[in-house]
Amino acid sequence: MKLIYTNENRFLVYNIQNIIENARITTTLKNEYASSAAGDLVPHETWLELWVVDNADYDLAKAAIDSAFKQANESGWDCPQCSERNTASFDVCWQCQAERPD
Ligand SMILES: [Zn+2]
Repeated sequence: MKLIYTNENRFLVYNIQNIIENARITTTLKNEYASSAAGDLVPHETWLELWVVDNADYDLAKAAIDSAFKQANESGWDCPQCSERNTASFDVCWQCQAERPD
């Protein structure tokens, strides 16, 4: 198993999971139910984590994310903070969580 993506914002993690699973790669989530216990934990430890089950799929999963972002080029947007390309469906940058510019 290999960690491919984690973020404080669960919505973004689910978005990335959709992209990867659409490429028929099996993923699993960690900390999916951790938020109920967040009071006792350091916030970072409760971030939802997306793992690729088979290490051999890791590069494919990365490629799937890349191509999904490339396909979104027409309607996507560039993060003003870190210059990462985001798909149109994201309201905050998937990488640094800066808000989408108007
Ligand atoms: Zn960014």
